[in-house]
Amino acid sequence: MARERQLLLRGGTVVDSTGARRADVLVKGEVVAEVGPRLGKGPAGAVVLDAGGCFVGPGLVDLHAHLREPGAEEAETIETGARAAALGGYTAVVAMPNTDPAADSAAVVRHVLDLAKGACCDVRPAGAITVGRQGKALAPMAEMAALGVRIFTDDGTGVQNASLMRRALEYASGLGVVIADHCEEATLVGDGCMNEGDQSSRLGLPGRPAVAEEVMVLRDLALARLTGARLHLLHLSSASSVSAVRLAKAAGVAVSAEVTPHHLVLTEEAVASYDPMAKVNPPLRTAADVAELRSGLLDGTIDAVATDHAPHPPETKQVAFSEAAPGMVGLETALGLVLGELGLPIEKVLMLMSWQPAALAGVSGAHGGPVRPGAPANLCVIDPARRWAVVPAALASRSRNTPFAGRELKGRARHTILAGEPVVIGEEAQR
Ligand SMILES: [Zn+2]
Repeated sequence: MARERQLLLRGGTVVDSTGARRADVLVKGEVVAEVGPRLGKGPAGAVVLDAGGCFVGPGLVDLHAHLREPGAEEAETIETGARAAALGGYTAVVAMPNTDPAADSAAVVRHVLDLAKGACCDVRPAGAITVGRQGKALAPMAEMAALGVRIFTDDGTGVQNASLMRRALEYASGLGVVIADHCEEATLVGDGCMNEGDQSSRLGLPGRPAVAEEVMVLRDLALARLTGARLHLLHLSSASSVSAVRLAKAAGVAVSAEVTPHHLVLTEEAVASYDPMAKVNPPLRTAADVAELRSGLLDGTIDAVATDHAPHPPETKQVAFSEAAPGMVGLETALGLVLGELGLPIEKVLMLMSWQPAALAGVSGAHGGPVRPGAPANLCVIDPARRWAVVPAALASRSRNTPFAGRELKGRARHTILAGEPVVIGEEAQR
């Protein structure tokens, strides 16, 4: 019989939802065996990983990643996306269902789960709300929920038909699952390709107004209040959306919300050079929107930072701005952007990127929990002082569409442990 793997994370500060303390962490097999201030060299045969100067916490959990498989393997595969995730410090990601075919049935969900076996990260498929994400008929959510799907979304587009959204929420409520909406009202969006405002007028590009998001946020909040169902709002981008969610939470609506790193650190100014890498839906907005998104993080209105990792091959980005595919990769840069640019304490960062998203994704049993004996060893070791520059060609993702090329970030995952296995050691993927 093979000897059980033993791993010692030495010299770090353990941070989890119970607080922070100087401690070494010993992993045996797939679980945490011991957490203590000085575990020496650990048992004979243990692999020792240096965590000096680092935080040792539960692995990050991404609520929102497009892994593109099946159907767009030229952009990303589950294998490459999961590797990028592990390098970013993630031990679990929710894979969006806007694949080809869409993940709108048990058969496709089962296929994604099969593809995810052996990946560097725990991949949890989300299911589509409607058949083919066409917004016309509800997908068989029950059969997907039976396979463990916890989040349902037509992401890429929002559910435009209010009556259908109401029925989706009612159905989801009965199943105990979450409906997640991409809030943009299509008739208000039109052919817009950036934030609507002075900047879009100056650039001569059609605008995508903030009110397109706000209208759908308000509609969904009203429907969530009516149905009592669990609603999650994807990638909020505008100040008015944050205010609406804040009021709804105060009124007891069962709503959660996420924001992306790019909406927290970039504004529509990034579009001034017509750089297709800065094109994303919902679009980058104004400094006032960024300020309100950040205050929403601080006061608990926003529950999670999620990447909206959206790989695209070069040919869909090396075109005119208005023609370019929307979206940017994010799994490998999220932690550095959040740690280095928002000025949040590590406990808050991990709350927003680990245990709160783990709870929303329904994976708390395996991810995001306190680092203590008996817990599943899904961990990340974060060096908060590490300075590094984003080099697109060095990304593990199969696509390199990032607006952050050349940007210096501060903070990076040094090691990532998945079910006791060090899948990333010293910033290098091990498989
Ligand atoms: Zn979306």
